[in-house]
Amino acid sequence: MTVAERLVRIRAELAEELAACGRADGVRLLAVTKKQPVERVAEAIAAGIDEIGENYLQEASAKFALLPPVRTHFIGHLQTNKAKAIAAAFDVVQSVDRPEAAAALARAAEGLGKRLDVLLQLNISPSERHGVAPDEAERLAAAIRGHAALRLDGVMAIGPITGDRAEISRAFALAAKTFGRVGGSTFSIGMSGDWREAVRAGSTMLRIGTALFGPRTA
Ligand SMILES: *Cc1c(COP(=O)(O)O)cnc(C)c1O
Repeated sequence: MTVAERLVRIRAELAEELAACGRADGVRLLAVTKKQPVERVAEAIAAGIDEIGENYLQEASAKFALLPPVRTHFIGHLQTNKAKAIAAAFDVVQSVDRPEAAAALARAAEGLGKRLDVLLQLNISPSERHGVAPDEAERLAAAIRGHAALRLDGVMAIGPITGDRAEISRAFALAAKTFGRVGGSTFSIGMSGDWREAVRAGSTMLRIGTALFGPRTA
């Protein structure tokens, strides 16, 4: 199946899932392009994808130079020593998970004369190393909002790696509750293996890699 064909199928399944849970709103599809050949990413963009997500700065910069302009999201771990380059290369940073990272990113954005859209990364899974604990999310949100160069637009979380669907749903429910307290318009949960649970929990943005592109190569 081509990337374009997979995209058509994903959109159809997504529409069905939205209807099944009585949601009349839409869900944005962020194509996660890490370790995918740039030709495949170009194919997805030609088929209508307008937002892409990358985890690694160097890989992303090399690819962005070869692609038509789309909205770019940084979804990898945010190291403070790379904040400047990340703020320059990306439109959105989804992985702000501690006050020092927010401060470094704000300094970088200020230096670039740009106001950067960010999401707060929440930890809802024992298998995940990064992200702020739900009970500390509001404090981090206040710290992010204290930086004029950052615009906090919501929450990102990675679901637990488990075959237990109920555990995934419980984790996403906790994320939804926390998103309600943090505020914003973007609730970025759901990947190739857990997007249905994410849609049922209120996701407004799915981050889809392998279901769209096939297995990662490098
Ligand atoms: C890799 C990655 C994804 C996409 O994962 P798939 O299972 O391939 O859909 C989504 N979000 C983050 C943060 C990732 O690192």
